[in-house]
Amino acid sequence: MVVLKFGGTSVGSAKNIKKVVEIITNTPQKKVVVLSAVSGTTNTLMQIFKAIEQNKEQESVALTSNLKVSYLSLIDELFRTNRYRKKASVFINKEFNFLLQQLKKAANLLLENTILAQGEILSTNLVQLYLEERCVSTRLISALDFMEVGTDNEPNALKIKENILPIINQNNDEKIFITQGFICKKNNGDISNLKRGGSDYTASLIGAAIGAREIQIWTDINGMHNNDPRFVENTFSIEEISFDEAAELAYFGAKILHPQSLIPAKENNIPVLLKNTFNPLSKGTIIKNKTAHKGFTAVAAKDGITVLKIKSYRMLMAYGFLKKVFEVFEKNQTSIDMITTSEVAVSLTIDNNLKINKIISELQQYGKVEVDYNLTIVCVAGDFSENKEGTTTKVFNALKNIPIRMVSYGGSNYNISLLVKNSDKITALKALNEGLFEEKNLLLEATW
Ligand code: ASP
Ligand code: MG
Repeated sequence: MVVLKFGGTSVGSAKNIKKVVEIITNTPQKKVVVLSAVSGTTNTLMQIFKAIEQNKEQESVALTSNLKVSYLSLIDELFRTNRYRKKASVFINKEFNFLLQQLKKAANLLLENTILAQGEILSTNLVQLYLEERCVSTRLISALDFMEVGTDNEPNALKIKENILPIINQNNDEKIFITQGFICKKNNGDISNLKRGGSDYTASLIGAAIGAREIQIWTDINGMHNNDPRFVENTFSIEEISFDEAAELAYFGAKILHPQSLIPAKENNIPVLLKNTFNPLSKGTIIKNKTAHKGFTAVAAKDGITVLKIKSYRMLMAYGFLKKVFEVFEKNQTSIDMITTSEVAVSLTIDNNLKINKIISELQQYGKVEVDYNLTIVCVAGDFSENKEGTTTKVFNALKNIPIRMVSYGGSNYNISLLVKNSDKITALKALNEGLFEEKNLLLEATW
């Protein structure tokens, strides 16, 4: 079996849903199809809940009515026959009556999760009905029946497997199962979700539970790029990348995938194929445990980085200094991303300034603190496990005209991180593109 996950844009209009259905019916293998909500719906549902929270009843009703209108026009365009238009509008009415009823309830987490869940419930039911109209046999299975999370809201892989396998086995003749991404239930039956963008995670968890041969994530771009096409010309879509490299890139705004979503696939050795719904012939990117290439794979950048330098002469030959520093960040629930140390100082970066003032004042008891805002981490991802000579030379040569504030290499075999001024970011990305990827013999293949 394979898992096919389609994101919000892919199911974002009648025209796009038809493309999705084309892809589903052209995939010969038995499959579980995971769908996101129509793009924009989850945001609107969040606004609806916020309005309830602020006792703005009129606003919540108006938002719900507008959303309903958009769904009524979607089904008008999607379905071919009046019979199915009618069926779909009965479903839409039922769904929106349910939502309107919810608006009268007092705001709480359970209500929020119930409201947010309707986006995926809407998209999956409509796609299932459309397939039915086209005489394609499918079975809609509710994620709330098998996608289980523990009290910590972390998915319970064992339970998910135990829950989903009988559902699939009971419908052994069925070739296409459709289910919701994102939504799940707690073991007490309460509705919950896997956080924003969580449908990728659903796909990966289902893939692991059913022992899928492949997990396909269909979005609106041709897979992962070797550099940021918004800033750099001549980028390529990467044909093959390892889970480790992809995990390094996930932090750096390579936002194609929900960062946690690769873990179940990696652990179960299931390749993840990133494909473009709007260009299905493009090869896309395959993420797997072992890849053929070594060396540089991609470059990415993350803005909004703050660097803190803590300098203490007492650090010289003292132990316990770093522990105290780290504890300050732990206490303030702020995660550290890059770190470098010298004998008398430590520099570290954070990407969240929510508690920065408290952090600074608590660190001042251990030494002199200097802070710089508005920096960018540039990440060079690749497979450097062979520790070949010349790797870092190439990176530094490419960046020879750019002041580098901090370097991190050797933390893993898959990344070299450099901290630069935000104003140097684009120059750095371009320079790395020329310096690392221009060679003709690289294993990446240009798709445009
Ligand atoms: N619909 C959810 C969101 O917008 C989940 C997803 O699309 O992955 O965040
Ligand atoms: Mg997404």
